[in-house]
Amino acid sequence: MPSPRYWREIPSRYRLEATRCGNCGRVSHPPRGVCPACCGTDAQNLELSHEGKVVTFTVVHVPPGDFLMEAPYVLAVVETPEGARMMIQVADCDPASVEIGMPVALEFRLIRKEGKSGILCYGHKAVPAYPRGEEEGADLESREMEVAHA
Ligand SMILES: [Zn+2]
Repeated sequence: MPSPRYWREIPSRYRLEATRCGNCGRVSHPPRGVCPACCGTDAQNLELSHEGKVVTFTVVHVPPGDFLMEAPYVLAVVETPEGARMMIQVADCDPASVEIGMPVALEFRLIRKEGKSGILCYGHKAVPAYPRGEEEGADLESREMEVAHA
């Protein structure tokens, strides 16, 4: 059976729910009734953007038994625009290509099978996100060219 913790966290796993403290503005994910920063109890529900950036990360070479992914894989702390931070796997990329500050999209994916029961657990994974619109990229390139010529 999936762990009690898994069931308890389903709403936040499935919808990327968080809370924002009405007192100090701290965003918590998973949601918390009591603010970890100021102990305020005026928590407002918030759905996070499905995007963020890598704050820090580690490459895992020996995964826990029931995870489906193959090592090595990247486990990162990702921060959303709302200021929530979460520990999440970065999928669909070469671990060597992951860097701090890298933009990612948060996608709903199959995470693992739990034990021998084979129950499938779903959650979010981060995948590399690329800048929207080619114009932005072109601008950046031409700026880099200018720097190179200077
Ligand atoms: Zn607070």
